[in-house]
Amino acid sequence: MTELERHSYDVLVIGAGGAGLRAAIAAHESGARTAVVCKSLLGKAHTVMAEGGIAAAMGNVWQDDNWKVHFRDTMRGGKMLNNWRMAQLHAQEAPARVWELEEWGALFDRTKDGLISQRDFGGHRYARLAHVGDRTGLEMIRTLQQRVVALGIDVYMECTITRLLTDGTGEEAHGARRGNIAGAFGYWRETGRFIAFEAPSVVLATGGIGKSFKVTSNSWEYSGDGHALAARAGATLLNMEFIQFHPTGMVWPPSVRGILVTESVRGDGGILKNKDGKRFMFDYIPDFFKADTADNEAEADRWYEDKKNNRRPPELLPRDEVARAINAEVKAGRGSPAGGAYLDIASRRSPEYIRKRLPSMYHQFKELADVDITKEPMEVGPTCHYIMGGVEVEPDTAAATVPGLYAAGEVAGGMHGSNRLGGNSLSDLIVFGKRAGDAAAEYAKSHTARIADDQLDVAAKEAVAPFEREGGENPYALHQELQNTMNTLVGIIRDADEMSAALEKLQELKARAKNLSVEGNRQFNPGWHLAIDLRNMLLCSEMVAKAALERKESRGGHTRNDYPKTDPEWGTKNIILSEKDGVVALVHKPLPVMPDDLKELFEEPK
Ligand code: FAD
Repeated sequence: MTELERHSYDVLVIGAGGAGLRAAIAAHESGARTAVVCKSLLGKAHTVMAEGGIAAAMGNVWQDDNWKVHFRDTMRGGKMLNNWRMAQLHAQEAPARVWELEEWGALFDRTKDGLISQRDFGGHRYARLAHVGDRTGLEMIRTLQQRVVALGIDVYMECTITRLLTDGTGEEAHGARRGNIAGAFGYWRETGRFIAFEAPSVVLATGGIGKSFKVTSNSWEYSGDGHALAARAGATLLNMEFIQFHPTGMVWPPSVRGILVTESVRGDGGILKNKDGKRFMFDYIPDFFKADTADNEAEADRWYEDKKNNRRPPELLPRDEVARAINAEVKAGRGSPAGGAYLDIASRRSPEYIRKRLPSMYHQFKELADVDITKEPMEVGPTCHYIMGGVEVEPDTAAATVPGLYAAGEVAGGMHGSNRLGGNSLSDLIVFGKRAGDAAAEYAKSHTARIADDQLDVAAKEAVAPFEREGGENPYALHQELQNTMNTLVGIIRDADEMSAALEKLQELKARAKNLSVEGNRQFNPGWHLAIDLRNMLLCSEMVAKAALERKESRGGHTRNDYPKTDPEWGTKNIILSEKDGVVALVHKPLPVMPDDLKELFEEPK
């Protein structure tokens, strides 16, 4: 019998970003005994890195804004592949969730009238992002964290979950039986000791998968753990092919390549130029957005002051469009010296304005690249940023397809369709974090957790396996090969040959990963931690590559050289992925049908 520490709760939340903390607050307030577990320190997570803001149609800056316009923008940004019900709930409930943050102590920037200030972002018709300079995520996390601590919710930090536990009433897979959720198994990062949580409801809020790619804005935490945990427990995932390559990551110096340059730079007036000084985005306006986008500089510049009578600048097209445009300019030989484009706010706004609105960007470039963004342009290029695909959930409750399992935030799929609009993640976290927490607490009222006998031993054996092999594969080398494969073969522009080659390589890496070995003992051992994370990255990467090869069209965060057009037939279905004993399967599933009253929103001239 495995020696371990055991705890019992009604609701266990895995992940302490915005989604996890909001879920924990909701579950606690519904009366559930709740705990949060996170693999880094409390207060880290990706949410803290969010810069630009939280999208919510509060109408503070533009009174014409309302949930219907936000809903329409979100669906159009996602190229209509979003789960309409999630997009509706999100647009309707985001304002209340932002005001709630304010009630809990968040200090947002203000308008002249003292309302919460809202800024422009790509794809949003009106200035809609509530913000705190370019450090919005920090304020969000500070506020939620303070509330979690004040409510006395138990937090287990620097503790990594490696397996979801079930009651063993389902089919056999991965050496144990699946079934209803009964808890989770993990290890303390510092001591390597094992820990098990017994809980009838588990909320996954583990974020994304970016660490499978070489150039990424994501940190070490984004190894797709939640996606993989859900799949191995028998849950389905959807549309894993849709990866957002943010158009503006740093490209110089090489050591910081991929670090995000917030979209707020463009929202606040920044423009993109090629090496010849040409403002090139006017050459890349797709038909789908022509009616809403200015086709000349004068109109684009007037838009910042007068949104009613002018169309938006092409720099504020959705992210997929801008990323593809930069990629095309670089490929055509018109890129900057480090292989990107120039992002110029220095010639457009005063140094005082730039330092006030974009303090983090000012310091980031000064310290990391020795560039003063109030005087010189930045060099930027696409970086892997966000995954739109994720755990398939029921929209109102965030319930996954395994009883007792819930997913919210970046780990969940459906909300953003094929492309997420900036600012829509932070609002997604608090809208669906709350819904997941409420539903998980409700489920726990009528269910108890019963961990099947074999589960803990199987989980422990699986975790220590890399110590039991000598002279095997090195996790760091394997990780590097994986990142190179995904970046070059399943990156921003894809085709069948390259993706087939990627899948072949992934099979090879998977086989080699069975022979990963690490030295030393279980006390703070980063090589061991990476060996465990790699299993998850490999599974997520295979799902991404398989779904990407299957979807024979280009749409949002999935661009194919061999199928460059958006295909209406593919616009009617999702790709649903599942896993059993290391084999990934996929099927097509029709999109839920949007009701007529919402359909009408897309017919009205706006
Ligand atoms: P996270 O905040 O990443 O939290 C994940 C949590 O899960 C962490 O606590 C982690 O430790 C934990 N975890 C993961 N695996 C395990 C495991 N196995 N065991 C235990 N714990 C685990 N979005 C916007 O809307 N507006 C913005 O302005 C914006 N700016 C961004 C800037 C940057 C640089 C980045 C990287 C992203 C930005 N985004 C923005 C996107 C947004 O920040 C993320 O999508 C969002 O914060 C994800 O939140 P989450 O709660 O789902 O996950």
